[in-house]
Amino acid sequence: MQENVKRNVLLNPGPSTTTDSVKYAQVVPDICPREKKFASIMAPMRDDLVRIVHGDPKEYTAVLFCGSGTICIDVVLNSLLAEGKKALVVNNGSYSKRACDVLTAYHMPFVEVKQPVDTTPDLDVIETALKDNPDVGYVYMTFHETGSGLLNPVREVGALAHKYGAFFITDSTSAYAMIPINVYEDNIDFCMASAQKGIQAMTGLSYVIGRRDIVEASKDFPVRSYYCNLYLQYEYFETTGEMHFTPPVQTIYAARQGIKEYFEEGEAAKWARHQRVMAAIRQGIDRLGLKEALKREVQSGLVAAVRYPDDPAWDFEKVHDYCYERGFTIYPGKMQGAGTFRLCALGALDEEDIVAFWEVFEQALAAIGVSTPVTYTE
Ligand SMILES: *Cc1c(COP(=O)(O)O)cnc(C)c1O
Repeated sequence: MQENVKRNVLLNPGPSTTTDSVKYAQVVPDICPREKKFASIMAPMRDDLVRIVHGDPKEYTAVLFCGSGTICIDVVLNSLLAEGKKALVVNNGSYSKRACDVLTAYHMPFVEVKQPVDTTPDLDVIETALKDNPDVGYVYMTFHETGSGLLNPVREVGALAHKYGAFFITDSTSAYAMIPINVYEDNIDFCMASAQKGIQAMTGLSYVIGRRDIVEASKDFPVRSYYCNLYLQYEYFETTGEMHFTPPVQTIYAARQGIKEYFEEGEAAKWARHQRVMAAIRQGIDRLGLKEALKREVQSGLVAAVRYPDDPAWDFEKVHDYCYERGFTIYPGKMQGAGTFRLCALGALDEEDIVAFWEVFEQALAAIGVSTPVTYTE
């Protein structure tokens, strides 16, 4: 029954390229998710998700939700703010802006610390905002701004949050299970991810990982959403072992396989592979004279935001289509004002995929008449 599925090299920031074993893990006999046989796969999965960030499952818990990664942003923001407290968001990219949009949608009070999108945020500005707002309940920052590739100083900002009596939430969706994370050393009370990113599985399952004591304390916080409430979902898991509402059955089987492959590869080896992929991406960038929007020192090493060359023949859509037809997907950037496209080192890829990609990319440039090395006016 198992036919070969065409392998595409996805250089977009997730969903990422998956292994065949993860794809086929979804093909299982139909099962009612209320059967014990199904429910019993979720408890070990929750503990494994905590272990990926080196948490002790007695102190940290993973709560699963059916949805894309944004559901976790929604859940943590709306569920973890006590009555009378304010949120503080470090806004320096498209994903932290999304957090501001969520808080606005819930009419929740928040302090927005706006910072440049292309460089590391200023810790003094964040500290001043905390001093000026003693009623901040939690500090929220994106771990890795996937739109630009910027890596944020999680450990330092987590420490600041704790110094001022707030807890610390980070959207680690595009770092989790790629960049090694240790919730204790990195001062993380809550982080999150989605199965289509670091564990290289399918979209539709997302998880919040965080401190049990805070989740339990949040029982008394205002309930601002019925479907997207952290405590309600946690409590249902703790008492029944199941998701409150219908889980994404096949997606969970794929995630289980993705987690198994994660531990088989190992944290350090996997991160080394992603770095190898990024090194190959950067080699091609340098060879073709392409320029990036961010300095390499401030980047995560998982996403390169490449500036559009200033060549009148450059046409992102045409280059995209040429590459896509040959099995390589590139993706537009998400930086306001700047024309960029992204090359990402997520997924089940290795160096040779990138070498093959650059050959095709170079052919695409030749086909549309962009000369190499490419040129920029500034
Ligand atoms: C991918 C991603 C998400 C989730 O986006 P969805 O489109 O909802 O899956 C959230 N935060 C970050 C930083 C991401 O990279």
